[in-house]
Amino acid sequence: MSINLWKEAQQLFAGGVNSPVRALVKPYPFYTSKGEGPFLITEDGKKIVDYVLGYGPLILGHSPEKVRNKIMEQVQKGWLYGTPSRIEVELAKKIIFHIPSAQKIRFVNSGTEATMNAIRLVRGFTGREKIIKFNGNYHGAHDYGLIEAGSAVSEYGITISKGIPKDIVKTVLLCEYNDLTCVEKYLKEENVAGVIMEPVMGNYGVIPPKTDFIKGIRELTSAFGTLLIFDEVITGFRLGLSGAQGMFGVVPDVTTLGKIIGGGLPIGAIAGRREIMDSITPAGEVFNAGTFNANPLSMAAGLATIEELEHTNAYEISNEAAKVISQEVDQMMKIDHVTHRVGSMMQFFLGVKEVKNATEAKKANKSLYLNLHEQLLKEGVFIPPSQLETIFTSASHSQNVINFTIDKFRKVLREIK
Ligand code: PLP
Repeated sequence: MSINLWKEAQQLFAGGVNSPVRALVKPYPFYTSKGEGPFLITEDGKKIVDYVLGYGPLILGHSPEKVRNKIMEQVQKGWLYGTPSRIEVELAKKIIFHIPSAQKIRFVNSGTEATMNAIRLVRGFTGREKIIKFNGNYHGAHDYGLIEAGSAVSEYGITISKGIPKDIVKTVLLCEYNDLTCVEKYLKEENVAGVIMEPVMGNYGVIPPKTDFIKGIRELTSAFGTLLIFDEVITGFRLGLSGAQGMFGVVPDVTTLGKIIGGGLPIGAIAGRREIMDSITPAGEVFNAGTFNANPLSMAAGLATIEELEHTNAYEISNEAAKVISQEVDQMMKIDHVTHRVGSMMQFFLGVKEVKNATEAKKANKSLYLNLHEQLLKEGVFIPPSQLETIFTSASHSQNVINFTIDKFRKVLREIK
């Protein structure tokens, strides 16, 4: 039973969990024993429709056959060599083929490692120290990103994580998302190595960029010799094979990837222009290394996932699922609200009329959202336990599952005021 595991877990882990957002599921987190297509099966024997999908990686749903088979095939051959292997070359070729900014790539083990190394890379390449980041963007759990970060950082009310040296905080310049004037001001006033941004915000709910903003950042950074990093850990291979950069037609200098490119196994990657990437060790002197970098299991799962995305209508199905659900729910809601959807990413902001940045998103009624989450969960539908996360759909969300979900939203929304 979940309750028994939870009791034990509280003695074993800080806050009872191994990643903070998981503790937000009340009265206690349910424990999953199996994932199957769009469903989570809990230790309590419940079958729940999943719109969290591992916080983004599972665009094909849980345990898709092709990915599972490829992982099993790799398991038969061993899973850590400490040498290069064919499969890392195959996955790298695929990513470089699809992602416009990618000419070379370095595989690491998480999105956190990817952005930490990307920031070091742009600093090393330009010889400058300052970074511009945006309020409410989340780039993982390292010192350089945990300043006004979104996701669980903000959910738990932490503006700057304790333990980060002041001198590091001073190297991060903060702007509001969709505010080009702020970016321009800092680029003029400071010697900025790089701008790091989520090309679609997915860690403060979903907030799309204005076209002038994303295009303007590209023009401005080029003009000032500042490198542009797109953190596509969520959007890479979710908003299409070429990610957000393909969708918006804006090519950054460096891209960070994670989540989907590992097919649900741990992964991260830094990709970018050849001459920038060649600053990384051993070609250059920006250090990166990792025992598990390009581990064959993650490579196998990632490769199989991208092959499925190439050869099936996974994007059509997952995008349509998000479109139908977001439109239906949008119409059902009688209170002020904002519905944002980009591809198969969506979120609802309750009690507000406009959301174009984190400051506006913060005004949304979090407790009402949490109530929505809780009531839906009782009905067998799992949306993230935080307004600041993204509701994802997958290629496994069939019409029946969508209809079930909409019925449950209808039932629950009648009670929520
Ligand atoms: N960047 C973005 C945009 C993310 O959404 C996340 C995680 O949610 C990360 C980086 C960190 O990735 P990871 O959790 O794999 O370290």
